[in-house]
Amino acid sequence: MAMDYRPMWRDLGLNLDNHDALLSVLGKLYGDTFLTQPNRPAGTAYLDFVMSEVHGLRIQELVEGKKRGRKVVGTYCTFVPEELVLAVDAVMVGLCAGADFATEAVERYLPRNLCALIKSTFGFKLGGVCPYLESSDLVVGENTCDGKKKAWEVFRGIVPNLHVMDLPQMKHGEGRALLKAEYLRFMETLERLTGNRVTVESLAKAIDVVNAKRQAVHRLSALRAADPAPISGLDSLLVNQIFFYEDPVRFTAQINALCEELEARVRTGAGVAGKGAPRILVSGCPMAVPNWKIPALVETSGAVIVAEESCVGERGTRNLVPRTGATVEEMVDHLVDRYLRIDCAIYTPNPDRLAHVKEMARAYRVDGVLLYGLQFCTPYAVEALGIEQVLEGEGIPALRIETDYSQEDVGQLKTRIQAFIERIGS
Ligand code: SF4
Ligand code: SF4
Repeated sequence: MAMDYRPMWRDLGLNLDNHDALLSVLGKLYGDTFLTQPNRPAGTAYLDFVMSEVHGLRIQELVEGKKRGRKVVGTYCTFVPEELVLAVDAVMVGLCAGADFATEAVERYLPRNLCALIKSTFGFKLGGVCPYLESSDLVVGENTCDGKKKAWEVFRGIVPNLHVMDLPQMKHGEGRALLKAEYLRFMETLERLTGNRVTVESLAKAIDVVNAKRQAVHRLSALRAADPAPISGLDSLLVNQIFFYEDPVRFTAQINALCEELEARVRTGAGVAGKGAPRILVSGCPMAVPNWKIPALVETSGAVIVAEESCVGERGTRNLVPRTGATVEEMVDHLVDRYLRIDCAIYTPNPDRLAHVKEMARAYRVDGVLLYGLQFCTPYAVEALGIEQVLEGEGIPALRIETDYSQEDVGQLKTRIQAFIERIGS
């Protein structure tokens, strides 16, 4: 018999009616989107299991850890170093949400014309539907774009345990110094929260755990360069999504096991779509669970997504952290160097992102790039125009898409995506 998690959800303070409604929509969406895919590798059963227990078993693990004194830290951006969180023996979970919820309540706090990612952050809190947020002993809000940093001012009134992390906007010496100061301040907050000190040993161990998790995803990414692609873009996106809240050691083992299966597929020429199917790189705003709208449209239109230039993708996972350093401060310097290389559109100027998109287009042998933006996301919208022009100038077809979390534009998007796939496939 399936576990009854309702008492746990009630104790966490969830709104059970709203939560039931969310889970039933999520379950149906997952079944329709993922379980109908052809030629899925057997190892994706792990993804199905994680998703079926996304508010169950994983939350129970967090709650049991909390009973033993293990703190939970929730975050909204890839700039928060999981290494520091693990080094004080806390758990880090990503809180970004990919669905609209409690829209009316949200619009009492925020303007309608704000990106869906920020509004869903508020919606999941106001609707009482996110057990990750309600399990978090500390919530980290990062000063990235204008929308997020102004939203934290309001969020503080709803979420009292909010730590706002400032981030630089430019990657020069002063920007680096700010990031380092903010990481050291975050480290002090974590030490106060947990009562544990970050030591050279604990940080080295944490760096190993997070590097191993990233390496498993790098291994998966490299396999997607094969034609036919051995795994769908949808399942690969899901791997990148659960990266943010699954137990890191278990995640690493399971993704490496999946990669072994994919290596065998590549050797035998087995794939999810036929050899020569149009190959697409998606580049732009992050896609949080359960935002699967665009990949589902692409992959039910005969193309396959072979890479994501995204924070829920290669922008977030590339580059490892050296585990060397004689002092904690030297090791924090390594963290700062690694995280400062994330080429988020909040940085100005941001030439590395364009270079990375071009490099990925080559490495994954793509036929076209889909530039994905959430409505009202100024940083990515501005960059998309320039990137589109450069790519098209170099003979790489690109399609700019701006959307939100609603289903209202699905018909129109499908038409545009199909026309693009026809263009790149001809
Ligand atoms: S896109 Fe920028 S702000 Fe958003 S998660 Fe990535 S790094 Fe953070
Ligand atoms: S998607 Fe754009 S507007 Fe939304 S939080 Fe990220 S950077 Fe800000």
